[in-house]
Amino acid sequence: MREPKKVDCAYVEERVQRFLDGELSEQEADELRFHLDACAHCIDGADLIETYRRLVQRSCACQAPESLRLRIVSQLRSVHVTHVQIHRP
Ligand SMILES: [Zn+2]
Repeated sequence: MREPKKVDCAYVEERVQRFLDGELSEQEADELRFHLDACAHCIDGADLIETYRRLVQRSCACQAPESLRLRIVSQLRSVHVTHVQIHRP
């Protein structure tokens, strides 16, 4: 079995969205899977996108409108830290 070539994080970040959309070639998808298996940094980003996709799929059998998809994706890209706000009476 051939091993996919090693790719770096920037390469993966560039392609992860198309990877999840199933738009990459088989070879590119293999490269990403191989990298994501080993890279905690990239899996964080991919997890966020996956989670969003599952939510969308579960709540609605139809596709999310393109505008909503783009808005969520751009938010995901800008999320680094979440914080919890506690409301006191
Ligand atoms: Zn990486």
